[in-house]
Amino acid sequence: LEGPVFQSPRGTRDILPDEATVWRFVEGRALQTAARYGYGELRPPTFEDASLFLRGVGEGTDIVDKEIYRFEDKGGSDLALRPEATASVMRAYLQHGMASLPQPVRVASIVNVFRYDRPQAGRYREFRQFNVEAIGDVDPVIDAEVIAILWRFLDGLGLRGLTILLNSIGDGDDRPNFIAALQAHYRPHVDKVCGDCRRRAETNPLRLLDCKNAPCQPFIASAPRTLDFLSAENERHFANLRRYLDVMGLPYEITPTLVRGLDYYTRTVFEVVPPSVGSQSTIGGGGRYDGLAQQIGGKYTPGVGFAAGLDRIILNMREQGCALPEPERPSVFFAALGDEAKVVAADLSERARQAGLATMVGSGDRGMRARMRQADGSGATVAVILGDDEIRDRRAAVKDLRGGDQQVVDFDDLASHLAARLG
Ligand code: AMP
Repeated sequence: LEGPVFQSPRGTRDILPDEATVWRFVEGRALQTAARYGYGELRPPTFEDASLFLRGVGEGTDIVDKEIYRFEDKGGSDLALRPEATASVMRAYLQHGMASLPQPVRVASIVNVFRYDRPQAGRYREFRQFNVEAIGDVDPVIDAEVIAILWRFLDGLGLRGLTILLNSIGDGDDRPNFIAALQAHYRPHVDKVCGDCRRRAETNPLRLLDCKNAPCQPFIASAPRTLDFLSAENERHFANLRRYLDVMGLPYEITPTLVRGLDYYTRTVFEVVPPSVGSQSTIGGGGRYDGLAQQIGGKYTPGVGFAAGLDRIILNMREQGCALPEPERPSVFFAALGDEAKVVAADLSERARQAGLATMVGSGDRGMRARMRQADGSGATVAVILGDDEIRDRRAAVKDLRGGDQQVVDFDDLASHLAARLG
């Protein structure tokens, strides 16, 4: 039954052991940073009722219209793999009655997410996000807090040259005025903008502002600005947010064209971009979503959060030469010569593991030279050599694989000797 070897599906990839060491480090940093701000971990399920995303992300968005992995299970339920985490976190908040807990409820998650996107460098169909949400509070001190988590996390990884883009897009009180002004601005030019923007002008006007197509850029540059339309209350919210960011030492650039194209996004929106800005280069983004809970059938519940793409963060760390953890290797390799020696090696190595060391036993029948090549290949720092003489005397030859010097150690002392030397 030999045929072509299977490949992982397009847009997915295997994270192999050396790479996984880096992932564990970055994910650990993410949750530790969030914990420093009082955020506990929440682990939502990988799939949900499809309608949670249809309503919580929104029909009319690319994510729902073109990218969602939606399927019917054997029981006939209409499900979808999560294309993002915020809707799940809000669902969990409502489902578990978390409104009765002290507010806001602060949670962080590491999630894999699925989007039928066009794969390329830094863009996958299964990718991973660090997701942070604070639900149940409108205070801009919370907006500043989530921005701080994202910034401190990235800065702590050693990433440099990043920029926080910041804007406020108002809410239901001032948005209609802004949309009317924006549509009036575009109306004389509909024949000069791209096809997408011609459509957006009717269906999703806010999105006009983040079109990447060249013909649309002059109209974006001269477009009205959300900040000039904010209600007095939203203006105060934004001014306070900036004061908090300033005292917390968080650098940001007001970016009037930054938007999120859904009605339930309110007030604060932000993004973090790396030095080479391009359409796919955003490392993380978020904002306030005071309208989301009602969109998925709950009571009015304000919230603010972000999602940061871990795949892109690790890509940027490699590009920038940030310090990465060393791949993990065993510290001891048991080089046994002969069947009897291998049995002894199995016993002694297990005892060394009980003493807390990472050890490996050489497998297969090998002569001395091949066995030592195996030892070098393992990456271990020390080899424990066991041949006939060693078995007879119940003493092992312990060889330093870097320096080369060798020492004889009684079997009974071996685990403690190795632990003292390497632990
Ligand atoms: P979003 O949920 O669309 O705001 O995305 C949040 C972050 O996830 C982005 O800033 C990216 O870093 C990352 N991201 C989005 N789409 C992809 C993708 N297809 N592949 C890898 N990372 C992605």
